[in-house]
Amino acid sequence: MDLIQVTRSSMPEFEEYIEEIRDLWDSHWITNMGIKHNQLEKELLAYLNTPNITLFTNGHLALECAIAAFNLTGEVITTPFTFASTTHAIVRNGLDPVFCDVNPDDYTIDVERLEDLITEKTSAIIPVHVYGNICNVYEIERIAKKHNLKVIYDAAHAFGVTVDGVGIANFGDASMFSFHATKIFNTIEGGAITYKDEKLSKVLYDIKNFGITGPETVEYVGGNAKMNEFQAAMGICNLRHVNDDIKKRRIVVERYMEQLAGIEGIKLMKSQPGVQQNYSYFPVVFEGYQSNRNDVYDILKNNNIIARKYFYPLTNSYECYKGKFNIEHTPVAKYISEHVLSLPLYSDLALEDVNRICALIRNSNE
Ligand SMILES: *Cc1c(COP(=O)(O)O)cnc(C)c1O
Repeated sequence: MDLIQVTRSSMPEFEEYIEEIRDLWDSHWITNMGIKHNQLEKELLAYLNTPNITLFTNGHLALECAIAAFNLTGEVITTPFTFASTTHAIVRNGLDPVFCDVNPDDYTIDVERLEDLITEKTSAIIPVHVYGNICNVYEIERIAKKHNLKVIYDAAHAFGVTVDGVGIANFGDASMFSFHATKIFNTIEGGAITYKDEKLSKVLYDIKNFGITGPETVEYVGGNAKMNEFQAAMGICNLRHVNDDIKKRRIVVERYMEQLAGIEGIKLMKSQPGVQQNYSYFPVVFEGYQSNRNDVYDILKNNNIIARKYFYPLTNSYECYKGKFNIEHTPVAKYISEHVLSLPLYSDLALEDVNRICALIRNSNE
């Protein structure tokens, strides 16, 4: 049996990409905000239905730059049930992450606990739309307004999701999207910040380009986080197919649901009211099931199927943060991280393979 990975990058036909990059051989302009970059920016504004966007070479640097652009200070409230990037981006900006627990229904920040963590040092909230599940954006907005805090969403998982008909890019002060190869829409590596205040556009542009503001002026201690033309060309191609991809993923997800719903000890993600999802992940929580999460992982692995303990470990338990945080302060996140397994999901995953994966899980006590 061929190896089944947890995900598989979406790619256009070879010829489609070659056609898209042909112009670059004519212009010899291959990075620094060229025609492909500018075209992709326009197309993404339309797709995400949002007024402002800045593209980056990857999602992580996009988030680092966004945090820098808001000049945050002191403490930032976030969650540990996320990819390394979210926490690292806060720390690499010289800020202190304060970890809020997640709620047990959709694994996003628990808004009931959020307000208790706000101190006079708090400057922002960086919540994560986990697996494409949407945070309680309305309650977060209310709390942020009341305490005068910025809100930057880690929307790396939420490309194309809408809430009550509104694109997810429109909530908070800014949102970060990742266009990494493993994400639902990719530019090989890539990312973007969407934001409310159009004045941020110039700041983000400058920060991603060394802080250079004119031929002879450098106003910020910026870095280099520009998206190049080959990345943008890949994005232009992939964006043509992303809706089809999401439809195909939906069929895969529906097959998983059919095969695993209603089994004692297996908890599946519930759809959220008013939310149009993107079918980016299929996490399963094993609680009191005949086999535990690690056993299921091993059984699948022995059958050449690679699931992912995602997110495990929690970011507040990483070696690099040893002694700084206490994971017992985020018990729900700890519990979920120890019981969850993301099953393989991509647009051309064969339904027979989904059946086989589910059969292995159902027969895991044999
Ligand atoms: C993928 C991801 C990132 C980082 O994005 P890159 O484009 O890989 O740098 C950040 N946060 C979350 C939750 C992610 O899944």
